[in-house]
Amino acid sequence: MPIPTPAIEAEELTKAYGKGSKAVPALTGLSFSVEPGIVFGLLGPNGAGKSTTVRILTTLSRPDRGRARVSGLDVAEHPGRVRRLIGYVSQKPGFDPMATGLENLVLQGRIHGTPARDARSRAAELLERFDLTAPARRLAGTWSGGMQRKLDVAMGLMHRPRVLFLDEPTTGLDPEARLELWAEIARLARQDGLTVLLTTHYLEEADHLAARLAIVDAGRVVAAGTPDELKSALGGDTIQAGLARPSDTEKARAVLGSIAGVGTIVAEGGALHARVTNGAAVLPGVLAALGAAGIDLAAVGVARPSLDDVYLHHAGRSFGEADRLGAGSPATEADLEVAAR
Ligand code: ADP
Ligand code: MG
Repeated sequence: MPIPTPAIEAEELTKAYGKGSKAVPALTGLSFSVEPGIVFGLLGPNGAGKSTTVRILTTLSRPDRGRARVSGLDVAEHPGRVRRLIGYVSQKPGFDPMATGLENLVLQGRIHGTPARDARSRAAELLERFDLTAPARRLAGTWSGGMQRKLDVAMGLMHRPRVLFLDEPTTGLDPEARLELWAEIARLARQDGLTVLLTTHYLEEADHLAARLAIVDAGRVVAAGTPDELKSALGGDTIQAGLARPSDTEKARAVLGSIAGVGTIVAEGGALHARVTNGAAVLPGVLAALGAAGIDLAAVGVARPSLDDVYLHHAGRSFGEADRLGAGSPATEADLEVAAR
């Protein structure tokens, strides 16, 4: 069987913002490839380089080095053709709050050169699909956050792209709106055969939605595969010990660290997560040692590795910690870049 052309390819992308001693490295040799027709996740903490990668792939920014292709087309050589193939939903809202949902969609279609009549019928189709027909004639600024995010996605679909880029599509949504958007995104790949690249800093989002994913840390891909592959490659288990008294954390960490078979230990929110080769074999010793040290537990469990463990293994710190400490992105990142040119 011939190998299909990848829908998206990033090859050794390198980029720094600013010049000389003030340069901030954003990408440090980032590579990945996405087969057509799947939801692919770029998972990484704040400041990892996800948005920078998406802006390069969508022709909005240029790498210092490296190449990027969409459907086999080099984005630097064929920006116009690439733009017709792709839809892009940025991390920040893209709709006009002072226009109705319907107006936003039709305008988006007109920008892409769609005749007015076709734009209106495509808009109606998308409003129906995203369950937005009822509020369609109200100003988008008055809609709920979940409805506004769906409008942004619908706008990205107006010109029937084959590849859709979603930058942090569910950030800030409540759990119910998030689940609803997840279902819509999954449907785009499964029913319509679109290739969807989404970035996220939610582990459970990548786990739930992405058929394959690349974990990004400090501007490069540290691990890639299906969520299951990534977890099984780690081997072993995680013992999770919830402490009755969070003040015992450091003492408990020291006790665990002295037990044979216990690997990396992460403390977070009054619980310790310890990597072990065989959870069932090590657990009795762990309980005995903690008991002997006078440390009471509120909960204890053995779990298969999570994506957090995968990240910890490759990046050397826990995902939650990296996300909090992440350099973050300036609010007006795109504007800053334009100003820097
Ligand atoms: P992510 O989307 O994963 O949070 P970004 O690609 O936005 O990461 O940012 C990667 C790094 O580049 C961060 O350190 C961020 O602060 C920096 N950065 C992003 N955009 C700009 C910009 N326009 N000017 C300066 N630094 C930037
Ligand atoms: Mg971002």
